[in-house]
Amino acid sequence: MSGIAFKADEFHFSILNPFKDFAEDPHMVEVRRDPLLGDTTVYNPFLRDKAKSFFGECDAELVIKLVEESSKNCIFCGESVEKVTAKYPVDIVPDGRIKVGEAILFANLFAVGQYHPVVSLSKSHFLKLSEFSPEMICNGFRAARKFLDLVYTRDQSELYTAVSANYLFPAGASLVHPHIQMLVTPVAYSYHARLIDASLAYYRKHNSSYYSDLIQEEKKNGQRYIAQKGGWHWLTAFSPMGSNEVIAVHERECDFGQLSETDLRDLAGGISKVLGFYESLGHLSFNYSLFSVRKPRGEGLHCMFKIITRQNLYNNYRNDDYFLQKMLQSELIINLPEELAPKIRVFF
Ligand SMILES: [Zn+2]
Repeated sequence: MSGIAFKADEFHFSILNPFKDFAEDPHMVEVRRDPLLGDTTVYNPFLRDKAKSFFGECDAELVIKLVEESSKNCIFCGESVEKVTAKYPVDIVPDGRIKVGEAILFANLFAVGQYHPVVSLSKSHFLKLSEFSPEMICNGFRAARKFLDLVYTRDQSELYTAVSANYLFPAGASLVHPHIQMLVTPVAYSYHARLIDASLAYYRKHNSSYYSDLIQEEKKNGQRYIAQKGGWHWLTAFSPMGSNEVIAVHERECDFGQLSETDLRDLAGGISKVLGFYESLGHLSFNYSLFSVRKPRGEGLHCMFKIITRQNLYNNYRNDDYFLQKMLQSELIINLPEELAPKIRVFF
């Protein structure tokens, strides 16, 4: 029997509603707990209708203006990417940068970790979400993978890798141009470290991997399971960290450096599908991270990919992170994971 429990509590209460002449209005909040970490996520069905005013719709004219203005001085565009982006010393990357198709990996001028390359994904300065092709995404991962191989050869320490993306300003990106970033560090950063510790504790307690059990449980109950593509299982998270969160769990591997070419292709194919789905919901901005641990440290851990949507682009928008997320590390569910999964299935 697995040690996974999908725990949720419902709390019912009333308010006197000023829009209904102060009549008593019954309300409910549901508090869910992540089965591995215990992190809480809050769902209030009454907020669903308010979500539109939270997130707004993308302002198409504003998007065009931002894209045009930012393209004038973009260092990832045209020849600039090979002229003005930072190179690695030859003892790390012999050619200074790594190219795979249109993807080009270079050193981040403002690193937040020991190894922190950036990969520009495309020649295009701006892409609609449905324009992130599997090939383009995969080339970015291939470049990141080549970099990790070089780091693994020269540095024997325990290394934690997160391959991440911020797309557009609401997701915290400082540049419009599609790119990903990879952090390879001897210290696991907070969330990554919590995943590793909790996965190991689960493994020791249940003599089984949390991720294998999760895949099995989610397949069995069928509410949040989306599809299997190669070695990756795609599902919505029971207690998500962000809006419209979709996760992919590798069936066994914990180390990005050990993933096969097929694994990378399948992952990229799935990401492309999720982005197409996000576009169908009217979203344009997203974040994702792929978490990896160098073998043999990742006992009980599997490579896990998480992707979420962010605020839409319009003037004077309100950021969707506030105290609930930043201070309490709790997330708000707008679209129920169980409703999201069947909608995404048709994209797979
Ligand atoms: Zn550009």
